[in-house]
Amino acid sequence: MAYKFVDNYREKGARKQLVKFLKEVRKIGDQRVLDAIAKVPRHYFFDETFWIQAYRDIAFPIGDGQTISQPYTVAYQTELLHIQKKDRVLEIGTGSGYQTCILLELGAEVFTIERQVKLYERTIKVLPHMGYNAHFFCGDGSNGIPEHAPYDKILVTAGAPFIPEILLKQLKIGGLLVIPVGDEKSQLMTTILRVAENDYEKVSLDTFRFVPLVGDQAW
Ligand code: SAM
Repeated sequence: MAYKFVDNYREKGARKQLVKFLKEVRKIGDQRVLDAIAKVPRHYFFDETFWIQAYRDIAFPIGDGQTISQPYTVAYQTELLHIQKKDRVLEIGTGSGYQTCILLELGAEVFTIERQVKLYERTIKVLPHMGYNAHFFCGDGSNGIPEHAPYDKILVTAGAPFIPEILLKQLKIGGLLVIPVGDEKSQLMTTILRVAENDYEKVSLDTFRFVPLVGDQAW
């Protein structure tokens, strides 16, 4: 894919429209999340031929059978995370790296893992070029990254068949996991708060459709 990093009035205008849509139609209420979306040039993750698609509220193929998540989904998951500056966040499923940039804009320290080598190789080049620096890993994130635990937040950006116990153990007390859980066709967005060493509070929210989380503690 040929990348071009030009952000002119056309893309900036389209981005503003997307933010307005997310606020007014999709009811995203966290202004910090909206501000982050207003800042990150989503078209940088698309081939120039498809720039027109970058500011529509749709998921889009990024190669290797994977997708860049729909802006609404990114906003929804980010809002649930309540990111605070310096939060240590584990993101499972780097994909394009767009969601990673949103987390970085909010001041998080991001550990992000992708199992597809080509996507990983692309993000380790593209994100630093855009000025976004995360800790990048390639491999099966369904086991988390225990060597860098504990995390304040863990975000899973692919659909899981169950909640991996191993991820819960990598949360700080007071830490939060956001994970879509269900079958291949639809998943319920689920949050799990670690309230004490062995005590968790689980909440199931809206239905989404993600690509599958594939791995040891997954499909
Ligand atoms: N948030 C990403 C973005 O904005 O581009 C979207 C990610 S895409 C919906 C889900 C990603 O999870 C895919 O790139 C897929 O390869 C990855 N994935 C699936 N199972 C995984 C696993 N066990 N470990 C790491 N990544 C995984």
